Formats: sequence, C-alpha cells, structure tokens
Amino acid sequence: MEKAAVVWFRKDLRVHDHEPLVQAAKSGLPVIGLYVFDPKEYEETRYGFKKTDRHRARFVQDSVEDLRRNLETIGVPLLIRHENPADAFSVLSQQVSIQSVYLHEDIASEELAVEDSVRKVLPDAAFTVSHGRNLIHPDDLPFAIEELPQTFSQYRKKLEKAGTPIRTAIPAPLNVTGLTMRGSLPLGDCPTLSDLGLEELTRTPRYTGGSSQAKERLTDYFFTKDRLKVYKETRNGMLAEDDSSKFSPWLAHGCLSPRVVYEQIKRYEKERVENGSTYWLYVELLWRDYFHLVHRKFGNRLFFASGLRDFSVPWEQDETLTQAWIQGKTGYPLVDAAMRELKETGFMSNRARQNAASFFTKNLGLDWRIGAAWFESQLVDFDVASNYGNWLYSAGVGNDPIQFRTFNVEKQAADYDPEGDYLKHWLPELRRVPVPWIHATREMGLIEQKEYGVTLGEDYPLPIIDLQEAMRERRERMKQAMGKT
Ligand SMILES: Cc1cc2nc3c(=O)[nH]c(=O)nc-3n(C[C@H](O)[C@H](O)[C@H](O)COP(=O)(O)OP(=O)(O)OC[C@H]3O[C@@H](n4cnc5c(N)ncnc54)[C@H](O)[C@@H]3O)c2cc1C
Repeated sequence: MEKAAVVWFRKDLRVHDHEPLVQAAKSGLPVIGLYVFDPKEYEETRYGFKKTDRHRARFVQDSVEDLRRNLETIGVPLLIRHENPADAFSVLSQQVSIQSVYLHEDIASEELAVEDSVRKVLPDAAFTVSHGRNLIHPDDLPFAIEELPQTFSQYRKKLEKAGTPIRTAIPAPLNVTGLTMRGSLPLGDCPTLSDLGLEELTRTPRYTGGSSQAKERLTDYFFTKDRLKVYKETRNGMLAEDDSSKFSPWLAHGCLSPRVVYEQIKRYEKERVENGSTYWLYVELLWRDYFHLVHRKFGNRLFFASGLRDFSVPWEQDETLTQAWIQGKTGYPLVDAAMRELKETGFMSNRARQNAASFFTKNLGLDWRIGAAWFESQLVDFDVASNYGNWLYSAGVGNDPIQFRTFNVEKQAADYDPEGDYLKHWLPELRRVPVPWIHATREMGLIEQKEYGVTLGEDYPLPIIDLQEAMRERRERMKQAMGKT
C-alpha cells in the first residue's frame, strides 16, 4: 500500500499560513488533504434547533470547494467525506498507509474528543499538531496561561509592554510530492444542505466562503475602498457593509489567517496612513485572541450557567419569551431588527449582538446558554470562544469589569441608528414610522399608528416586557446572587 501524509483540515480552510500543510510537504511523503463533514455538527441541540444551520453550512461548503481548488494548484487532492471522522480515517487507512497526520490545534472539548477517536483508529500514525488560529502564537505570550489577566485591557497592556512579537505568515508550499495511486481514491463531494438535514437558503448567501473570497474582501476593504482609515469611527454602524471589516466569517473558518490581516494592516500603514483606526482593527484581533485564551484557561467553564463566576445566577427558561426573541417579535425595534437579520442572513453587527444578548440576559433574564446556542446555530462566523466568551460577558458572568452593564435598547437605537435606517430595513412594517416614534413605537397613540400605517399588537408587537422594570428586577436578582444587598 502506498504511504501518505494526511493534512486534516477543520477550521483552517486555506493553503496560506498553514503550518501543517508545510510540514506535510516537507515530510517528503505524498500528501493528501481531508475534510470531513461530521453529521454530529448538524444535529439538533437540546434546545430544539440545529447546532449548525443552513447559513454556516453553506459557508463551509463554499470554503471547502475553494480549498479543493487551491490545493489542486499545488498538486494536493482534497478528499471530502460525510461521516464520523474516525470512520473516514479508518476507511482511508485501508486505501493508503497513513504514516502521519498534520492538523491545527483545536481546544474545544467536542473537537478534542473527535481527535481522540481518530487517534484511536490510527495507532501507528504520528500526529503533529500546530498552533495556527491566533494572531499571537501561544508560545510567545509573556505569561503562563494560568496568569492570563482578568480583563482585556490588562492583557493588552501586558502584551504591549512586553513587545510581544507577531510571527510572519508562512507561504503555501510549492513542492509537494504527488500520490501515485490518486486516481483510484474517491475524491468525494460536499454533501448538499438536504444531505445535512437542512433547509435550502431562501436568499443569496451574504458572504461566500473560501480563502479566495477572503482575500478579495481584505483588498477591497483596505485598499480599493480605503475604509481602514475610518474603521474606528464607523465600526459601530449596523447597516452598511463597509462599516466594519466583515472578516469574521473567514477568520472563524480559517479561510483567512489573522497574521495575514495584521501584515496587511502594517502595509496599509506604510502605504496610506497609520492612525487610531489602523491600531483599532489590530486591537479587535487581540480581542479575538483574548477570548481564545479565556477558553484555553477556563475550558468547559465557558459553557457553565455561572460562567467564570463563583456565584449562581437564577436564570429563567421561558419558551414564549425565547421564541419572541428568536423571531424578532419583542416589540423593541432594535432587538427585533437584529434578530430578523440574524435569522435571514446568519450575520449581525457587533453593536446589534451586544444589544440582542444584553436584552436576552439582562431584560428577559433568560438562561444565556439558550441565546448563545441560537447564535451558534445561526451565525455564519460562529467561533466557540468568541461566541461563548462574548455571551458570558454580556450576561455579566464573564470578563466584564463592570458588574451591571446593561444596554438600554431604545437609547442604543437612537444613538447608533439615529434615522432608524437599520430598523426600517429589517422591519418593513415600520417603514413609514418616522423619528422619534421609530425609537419608541410603544408610545405611539392611535392617531400616530393610523398615520404611519401600523397597528400595534397586530402589524408590530407591543413590548413583551417593561424595559425599566425588567432592568431593575434583574439588577436586584444579580446583586442577591452575588450576596450583595
Ligand atoms: C453576543 C456576541 C456573540 C458573538 N459571537 C461571535 C462569534 O461567534 N464569532 C465571532 O467571530 N465573533 C463573535 N462576536 C464578536 C463580534 O460581534 C464579531 O466578531 C464582529 O461583529 C464581526 O464583524 P466584523 O468582522 O466586521 O468585525 P470588525 O469590527 O471588523 O473586527 C475585526 C475582527 O476582530 C474580531 N473581533 C471583533 N470584535 C470581537 C469581539 N468582541 N470578540 C471576538 N472577536 C472580535 C473578529 O474576528 C472580527 O472579524 C460576538 C459578539 C457578541 C456580543
């Protein structure tokens, strides 16, 4: 049987800055790429919705197909399978003699369990695991993981004081040994959405997966549209595509390496301008790293109801309130616009995410894990550490130094969407409602409702809770949980 090295692609769907691929090429063995659609990733969760729904599934399909094309250019075949990864490796090991497996590290417990099951079916293969997800290589951190600073700003200052280096991105290998018997190996195709048990998309995907598209977006946002120079001022916008980078879907699936983004920031600073905006995009990449480190340090506590805290919060479960939030029918336009955008496109801006999560936990008082699971199901850019870390933060049981940070969703809408453009875009029933009513629909009397063509309670819901009262109540309960009066 022909000997081979396998590069196991998971959340690293690119050929650039890919250490496992470079190492496999250096081994001198013929190299095979493998991507496995694990049916478990597409199952229903205990909350009744899919772990991965159609938006992300479609993004992964496109990314895997793009990866196959890019690997072909360097002579590496990408095998695509739809089964349990251990079974996929087991079958492959009957066709080629797998000497070594090269992969990027994934620290989430479910992924580690899958990796373990693969190692069991290949007892004689050597496994080489690289770090490749972050801007800063974990070995270069100026502290041990147990000493990870409590807050993001302490962490950022520590890195900057130590002058922590950022490693250069590695180019894709040029010389890869080909497989003699490749013609007899079935390549396999991506399963369709229906094969994955998902419904078809009803609109064109907002973002197309793949590192080719990632590079296009990077060039477009930085150099063609020249938007990096105003990033800090625009990044809180909720509607326009270029208000923020929109790199997250590609970063989450590893179609884009954060080190490549960093290198392009540096190039931009040299060729165009270095200012607060160019620095701020780098800071956001550090936030991403920080949540990954929080995950590394706290492990599964990221998924506990009490999060990183040592008091237990009496989270509630209420199907009617949860459904109103999911369907965008809470009677609070900012929350509703955000939730409908998520369901329709698989994306939501950071400002909208903060408000939707704050409303779910601090106003509705619902178990943050349900909200996080819904985001996990829908988000095209879902990333375990970023999603659960941000949810913990929003729920007040994570790394936020401010104990009772609560977003007033009406004030936030008026501040960040002063003309109501975002609200009207996602809530067509409110399209004729002008400012200031659009920011406080619940205060519209019968005359206004008639004038603007919307009947509250019929065309658009009345608020499902009283915002101020709910906020006060939650604050009290949180204080009690912490043992404060
Ligand atoms: C409740 C909640 C859940 C979230 N879930 C996810 C998630 O599953 N996946 C995800 O990538 N981001 C998540 N975020 C963070 C953030 O909202 C998105 O990264 C951002 O909106 C993506 O848009 P962008 O690429 O235009 O961001 P930009 O503002 O252009 O930022 C550039 C990059 O920095 C990183 N980044 C920025 N802000 C954060 C942050 N707060 N935390 C971690 N990384 C950040 C992202 O990789 C992003 O692409 C979540 C935030 C909240 C409040």
